[in-house]
Order: sequence, then C-alpha cells, then structure tokens
Amino acid sequence: MICLSCNDRLSREEVQARVVAGEAVPECRLCGGILKPATVSFGQAMPERETALAFEHAERSDVFLVIGSSLVVHPAAYLPVRAVDAGAKLIIVNLEPTPYDRLATVVLLGKAGETMSALLEAIE
Ligand SMILES: [Zn+2]
Repeated sequence: MICLSCNDRLSREEVQARVVAGEAVPECRLCGGILKPATVSFGQAMPERETALAFEHAERSDVFLVIGSSLVVHPAAYLPVRAVDAGAKLIIVNLEPTPYDRLATVVLLGKAGETMSALLEAIE
C-alpha cells in the first residue's frame, strides 16, 4: 500500500489487520493521507521492473484471461498479444468489443462481475 500524500509504503497485511481491528478507512500513520494499493492507476506510468515481469509471465502462460479491460492503454494492452504470440489461448471478458477480440479463443461480452459469477457457477 502507498500513501498518496507522502509516498510512505506499508504492507497490505498491516492495513488489512487495522481494518480487521475496527478501523473503517485506515489513513497514513505518518501524515493522515489516503492509502491506496500500490498498483498502477489510469494515467500513471507502468513501473519498469514489474512491466518486464508481466511480459515474461504472459509469454509463459497457457491461458491469458483479460477481465474488464478495453485493451486500449499500452503497453499493458500488448500483454495478451505477447501471450497469444507465444502460444497461449486468450479469453476476454469485457462489456464491449476490444481491438484484440480477433486474437481471442473466447470473447464474453458483459459486465465483468456478472459474467465471472455466471462462469464460476457454470463451472461448479
Ligand atoms: Zn502519508
């Protein structure tokens, strides 16, 4: 987790423990700022090391599942392309068609939550 004000980092486990202990919305202990998962939000640059690792994993995958992405923001949108080029099957779950639907083995059009819940029910 990262503080949006002072960039202090803390583990997800620590924040989770504070939520379990009763804090509804844990704030940064140093400055009171807003804590968010240390993930890449829209408009933020992808971190170099994690991006390289993601492409490595994509190339080694047997099945690449895209859930709730329009696949228009690069370089992340190239991940399924790299996976397919390396031999993976591609499954896309999205509300609308994406530029890479033609590469997919399966395309499920619908809301991510509803579609995945229905899919899990069908599998079980
Ligand atoms: Zn802070």
